[in-house]
Amino acid sequence: MNCSILSVGTELLMGQTINSNTFFLSRKLNELGYNVLYHFSVGDNPDRLENIFKTALDISDIVITTGGLGPTQDDLTKEIISRFIGKELKLNEDSLKKIKYYFEKINREMTDNNIKQAFIPEGAIVLPNDIGTAPGFILNENEKIIICLPGPPREMNLMFQNYVKPYLAEKSKYIIKSDIIKFFGIGESKLEWILQDLISNQTNPTLATYANEGELSLRITARGKSLEEAEKLINPIKQEIKKRLDKFIYSYNNQSLEEVVGDMLIRKNVSISLAESCTGGLLVSKLTSIPGISSVLDRAIVTYSNRAKIDELGVKRETLEKYGAVSKETAMEMAEGLKDITGSKICLSITGIAGPTGATSKKPVGLVYIGVSTDEKTFYYKYNFNGSRNKIRNYSAMTALNIIRK
Ligand code: ATP
Ligand code: MG
Repeated sequence: MNCSILSVGTELLMGQTINSNTFFLSRKLNELGYNVLYHFSVGDNPDRLENIFKTALDISDIVITTGGLGPTQDDLTKEIISRFIGKELKLNEDSLKKIKYYFEKINREMTDNNIKQAFIPEGAIVLPNDIGTAPGFILNENEKIIICLPGPPREMNLMFQNYVKPYLAEKSKYIIKSDIIKFFGIGESKLEWILQDLISNQTNPTLATYANEGELSLRITARGKSLEEAEKLINPIKQEIKKRLDKFIYSYNNQSLEEVVGDMLIRKNVSISLAESCTGGLLVSKLTSIPGISSVLDRAIVTYSNRAKIDELGVKRETLEKYGAVSKETAMEMAEGLKDITGSKICLSITGIAGPTGATSKKPVGLVYIGVSTDEKTFYYKYNFNGSRNKIRNYSAMTALNIIRK
């Protein structure tokens, strides 16, 4: 069954309120196996509201409205809809009692216009408002379902969870299952290129890529009559993606890179210390977001100046003078110095030019060295990242995590 969401409120069109209701409802409806085909927004204007409601009802099986159920003059949704489908508004005693009780509870006088909220189109299923006054309702008319919900997001969310979701879950013939695969070290366009055939030929499951702050995700979504059926559709695609791209994949179940790395270090009991220059603690901040990391993380030192690199890590003055702070020599001495101090199994250093200042002709913005010192050896990686200062810093920290993962 296809749905439209119609949000009512002039404040939405004025850019005063973000339309979070539509965002919430779209996600929930998709999870329940419904196709959301259209989003509409309209101001508190009776003619335009009626017109757009008629359109929405024409082109969808289910129309869900939010907003305009309140007590004031400009709250019109209920009046317009019931008039349009030829239903009278009738006083619902139960709702009136609840509204009266609500005002008693918050110790405020109930004004007459609040009675208006207890009027419901005849034949509708009433949806109680457990944290506010305006009840919602469901109308089942000529094979169409009309669901009207209040505008305030808290009230709308709760009403949906408690009353609309069970109603729609029972009506839905399908469930939706989504799996998210996470990639590092490959760009979005290359990923799409390699999976082109899978992405364009699929209707069930569907595949979509998302890039966000250095994380690249691929969502595989299947629709099935049961969870097992949906999983059966997803699994062969997952296998195929694994075959093609396994070395870039760090999670098959939507974990972040720091979760994967943190959990691995804890599980294998590998101690770690960090020396950060251009990331200024970003890497350790990511790692310390993982519960239990204290069992393996010894310390992280932010050594921003040359002096700090010398004092804290024992980097040689000559090294800094000869090769500079952003060099493989410095990166490796930082890691080695840390190894001497801490004895951690993995000692990792980051030094780079995050920009936009500080670059030279030989050392451009985005030049980053990562040094690693383990029980066996000390080595380094060199990168030329591009982007803004924050992007370079974030990507450096993510890259370091990816090195630890391997
Ligand atoms: P009320 O009883 O508060 O008048 P209502 O059902 O009449 O409820 P509206 O008057 O349309 O709802 O909206 C009430 C408040 O809810 C708005 O001021 C706005 O902040 C918020 N709101 C309305 N619609 C949305 C929406 N689509 N997304 C997010 N917030 C919304
Ligand atoms: Mg209102």
